[in-house]
Parts: sequence; C-alpha cells; structure tokens
Amino acid sequence: MKTLFLLLASTAFASAPSDWAKQNLKTLVPLYHALHQAPELSNQETNTAARLAQEFKAAGYEVTTGVGGTGVVAVLKNGAGKTAMLRTDLDALPVTENTGLSYASKVQVKNKAGSEVGVMHACGHDVHMTNMVGTARYLAEHKADWKGTVVLIAQPAEELGEGAAAMMKDGLFKRFPRPDYALALHVSGDLEAGKIGYHAGYAMAADDSMDITMKGRGGHGASPHLTVDPIYLSSLFVVDLQSLISRERNPLEPAVITVGAMHCGTKANIISDACELQVTVRTFDPDVRARILKGIERKAKAIAQSAGAPEPTIRLSDVFVPAVYNEPALVDKILPSLRKALGDKNVVEKPAVMGAEDFGRFSEAKIPVFMWTLGTIETKRLKKMNEGGKNAPSLHSALYYPDIGPSLEAGIASLSSATIELLKP
Ligand SMILES: [Zn+2]
Ligand SMILES: [Zn+2]
Repeated sequence: MKTLFLLLASTAFASAPSDWAKQNLKTLVPLYHALHQAPELSNQETNTAARLAQEFKAAGYEVTTGVGGTGVVAVLKNGAGKTAMLRTDLDALPVTENTGLSYASKVQVKNKAGSEVGVMHACGHDVHMTNMVGTARYLAEHKADWKGTVVLIAQPAEELGEGAAAMMKDGLFKRFPRPDYALALHVSGDLEAGKIGYHAGYAMAADDSMDITMKGRGGHGASPHLTVDPIYLSSLFVVDLQSLISRERNPLEPAVITVGAMHCGTKANIISDACELQVTVRTFDPDVRARILKGIERKAKAIAQSAGAPEPTIRLSDVFVPAVYNEPALVDKILPSLRKALGDKNVVEKPAVMGAEDFGRFSEAKIPVFMWTLGTIETKRLKKMNEGGKNAPSLHSALYYPDIGPSLEAGIASLSSATIELLKP
C-alpha cells in the first residue's frame, strides 16, 4: 500500500505534459472561455495582455508589460543553460461570431468608418494564449526536468503583421535574454484535435503588399482617342502580371501574385484619370521575391509607357512579413520528443502554405525557429464537415471553433515537451 502511494505520488510530481494538461483542464478551459468571450482587435489588446501578465506572475514568472505596445514578456530563470522563447499572439479579428456556442463572443466595436463590427477570436489566438499559460505552469512546476531560461512572449497585432517587429524594436532581445531557439504553434481548422502538423524548411510565405496607381488622362467615354484610359491599361497589367509567375519564375520556386482590389472610375461614359490597385505577393526565397517585386514595377512602367501614359506610382508597404523558415536541424531535434508526447501517428508532416505569419520576423532575426500547427477539430466533427467533398470552416471564418479539451492537451503537451527537450540539463 505504502509503495503504491509513493509510486502514485512520484508519478503525479513528474507527470507527463499530456497527463498534466488533462488534469488541469478544469482551470484552463474557463480561462479559454474568458479569453474567447473578451476578444480585442490588433494593438488594442489591453485587457487580454493584463490577464496573461497576471497568469504568468501567478505561475512564478518575472513579468514585463507594455513591450512594443501591449506586448508581455515573462521570464523564468532556472540555472545556467540555453534560452528558449515561446510565443503567443494576443489579437482577435473584426468578425461577427456565428458559431452559436454558449460562450460565443458578443463583443461589438466601432470600426474606422463608424459602423459596428463584431470581434471574434476567429484565428484561434485564444487557444494559443491558453496553451501558453498551461505550458508556463507546467514548466514552473517541473523545474527539475530542465535548466536554462524560458522567455514567454505574448505579442500584439499579429493580424497586421506588426507585433513581433514592434516588440523587437522595443528591445525584446536587449532588455530580455536573447533566445537560442524560438517556438510557436498555430491552430489549424482542418486537422484533427490531438494531432500536430509540421513542415521543415520554408513553412509559411513572405508577404508583401503593393499599392499601384495606374495613371491615365480622363475624358468622355465616347472619345477614347482624346484620352489615355487607365482601366484599359490596368486590365492589361493585371493579366500581364501572371506572366511573372508562368514565364519568368522557376516553376519549382513557389510564388503567388494576387490583385485583391482595383478601384477606378465613376460612371459608364467617363474615362477616369487613374486606377488604384492593391497587390499581394507571396514568396519563400528572397531572390524570387526580389525578382517578382522588380518585375511588377517593370511591367507597370512598360504598360504605361507603351500607351504614352504618365508614369505609375508604385508603393511597397513597409509591413513586410518575412517567411517562416523552420530550421531543419531544430525540427529534427524536437520531433522525437513530440512523437513521444503525442504518439507517432499524431505527429504528421504537412505541406508548406503560402499564408504568412509574423513569427517569420524571428527567422529573419537569425533565431532558429520552429512553428507547428495544432489540430483543433474532433475526428467525428471533422468527418461530418468534410462530407460531400466540403471543406471545414477555415480560420478567420465566423463559424470556426476548436474542440478545446483535446486541443489544449496536445498544445500544452507539444510546447512543454519541445521546450524541455531544448533545455535538457
Ligand atoms: Zn489570422
Ligand atoms: Zn493567427
């Protein structure tokens, strides 16, 4: 009896992260619900940041708030060793929740135009935060399993691609220990809860946006010969842009050019003076990126010149989000611990995507990073959603919601195991 008691006591003390997560869902799920019900838009995450700061402090971390806006940094030192940084994001989206859940967000705010919009954690950043709090507690309760320093960051404005850069500009790596590794996860709307997906190398794309004004000379729609028609020129331009992908790019190097907006003209019989175009460019390789950006400029100028139009204005947005490059050596180092924590069949390789994530800033800052995706939909529900060849609601959809228990179990188990693997005594 006594031996059994000792055995139980020692296993409880050194519990595996997934068991620990399961046992602690009773406090973590309410935290998730609270965060989900009080979403805040990018750069306005004041209450969310305060709640996380309070949770990290309670877990024994040294906490600094207001880093790069609403960012939070929590540090736990545990002797000499490497430094691992774990990142969550704080912000929600201007989406009106339509999940019908009892804990759905009812938050409404006024947008810039003055109209009411709903706010929702439609990208699962509330899951990321709850995972981080769980992992923070796990690491603090299991200090015998690791040595070194854990730096937790909760960053603002991921959805604007700004928060990671703002925190670095505010001295993230000068005021706090510079990490040897950085880890993060992102929820997935089409992977089963309990599983994680990974991709070594380039996993998410670099994201550039460009604003282009194609200029013409306006006039009467019945007298095109007295005008230079910017709609005609813009149409040629939009079509010609795709030749940068189909003819000028090595087919084995991924890249996307999308013209997401084109605004011109007021009326059928008026030729306008100008057209405004908004373009997104997604690439992995920096050389491919440079060639495509130059190519877009060249094409815009050439089309204007061929029609005798004024030179177009081309503005590349400063908010460039670099690609997420999962350091292959780091992925190799961590994978066995993830397989051990979740089971072999629950760690699956996934293709890279052309979506962007400002976690790529840390790749750019030359820190070895690994970001994996976290399954959040229970098998039965996912099967049902995929019936008849349909897709499950994607992230950013008003219908997306995770099955929170198993999502947190795998999230906390993966983050904790990976961190302990990197900080092995
Ligand atoms: Zn998002
Ligand atoms: Zn996101």
